[in-house]
Amino acid sequence: MKSPKRPPKPVRCEGCGILVGPGYLSEQGWPAPDGQGIICWSCRDYLSNAAKRGRDPLQLLNAWRRDLRTGFGTTPFLYSRVG
Ligand SMILES: [Zn+2]
Repeated sequence: MKSPKRPPKPVRCEGCGILVGPGYLSEQGWPAPDGQGIICWSCRDYLSNAAKRGRDPLQLLNAWRRDLRTGFGTTPFLYSRVG
Protein backbone atom coordinates (compact mmCIF):
# COMPACT_ATOMS: atom_id res chain seq x y z
CA MET A 1 0.00 0.00 0.00
CA LYS A 2 1.30 3.35 -0.97
CA SER A 3 -0.05 6.60 0.23
CA PRO A 4 1.27 9.91 -0.98
CA LYS A 5 1.31 11.39 2.48
CA ARG A 6 2.72 9.28 5.23
CA PRO A 7 1.65 10.39 8.67
CA PRO A 8 4.63 11.22 10.82
CA LYS A 9 5.63 8.37 13.07
CA PRO A 10 4.87 8.96 16.72
CA VAL A 11 7.88 9.38 18.93
CA ARG A 12 8.19 8.92 22.63
CA CYS A 13 8.57 11.82 24.96
CA GLU A 14 12.05 11.92 26.47
CA GLY A 15 10.59 12.82 29.83
CA CYS A 16 7.65 10.51 30.44
CA GLY A 17 7.58 8.09 27.53
CA ILE A 18 4.15 8.90 26.18
CA LEU A 19 3.67 8.82 22.44
CA VAL A 20 3.81 12.16 20.76
CA GLY A 21 2.29 12.71 17.35
CA PRO A 22 -0.99 13.36 15.60
CA GLY A 23 -3.71 11.20 17.13
CA TYR A 24 -1.69 10.41 20.22
CA LEU A 25 -1.79 11.65 23.77
CA SER A 26 0.32 14.66 22.99
CA GLU A 27 -0.30 15.97 19.50
CA GLN A 28 2.76 18.11 19.47
CA GLY A 29 6.25 17.75 20.80
CA TRP A 30 8.95 20.21 21.63
CA PRO A 31 12.67 19.72 21.33
CA ALA A 32 14.29 18.62 24.56
CA PRO A 33 16.41 21.29 26.27
CA ASP A 34 19.57 19.57 25.09
CA GLY A 35 18.22 18.82 21.62
CA GLN A 36 18.17 15.06 22.19
CA GLY A 37 14.72 13.95 21.15
CA ILE A 38 11.47 15.63 21.96
CA ILE A 39 9.32 16.20 25.00
CA CYS A 40 5.57 16.44 25.37
CA TRP A 41 3.53 19.39 26.49
CA SER A 42 3.32 18.26 30.11
CA CYS A 43 7.05 17.75 30.45
CA ARG A 44 7.83 21.00 28.71
CA ASP A 45 5.46 22.80 31.03
CA TYR A 46 6.93 21.10 34.06
CA LEU A 47 10.51 21.77 33.03
CA SER A 48 9.89 25.42 32.29
CA ASN A 49 8.23 25.87 35.67
CA ALA A 50 11.12 24.08 37.33
CA ALA A 51 13.54 26.39 35.55
CA LYS A 52 11.61 29.37 36.86
CA ARG A 53 12.04 28.00 40.35
CA GLY A 54 15.76 27.83 39.80
CA ARG A 55 16.14 24.16 39.04
CA ASP A 56 18.12 22.76 36.19
CA PRO A 57 15.65 21.38 33.65
CA LEU A 58 18.31 19.27 32.04
CA GLN A 59 19.12 17.59 35.31
CA LEU A 60 15.44 16.79 35.80
CA LEU A 61 15.09 15.51 32.29
CA ASN A 62 18.09 13.27 32.65
CA ALA A 63 16.66 11.85 35.85
CA TRP A 64 13.44 11.08 33.99
CA ARG A 65 15.40 9.44 31.21
CA ARG A 66 17.07 7.19 33.74
CA ASP A 67 13.65 6.28 35.11
CA LEU A 68 12.34 5.50 31.67
CA ARG A 69 15.11 2.99 31.20
CA THR A 70 14.47 1.27 34.50
CA GLY A 71 10.71 1.58 34.83
CA PHE A 72 8.30 4.36 35.44
CA GLY A 73 8.96 4.82 39.10
CA THR A 74 9.26 8.48 39.81
CA THR A 75 8.08 10.30 36.73
CA PRO A 76 5.45 12.84 37.66
CA PHE A 77 3.15 11.73 34.88
CA LEU A 78 1.15 8.63 34.27
CA TYR A 79 2.50 6.34 31.66
CA SER A 80 -0.25 5.98 29.13
CA ARG A 81 -0.41 3.84 26.11
CA VAL A 82 -2.69 4.57 23.21
CA GLY A 83 -3.73 1.83 20.85
ZN1 LIG B 1 6.41 13.92 28.58
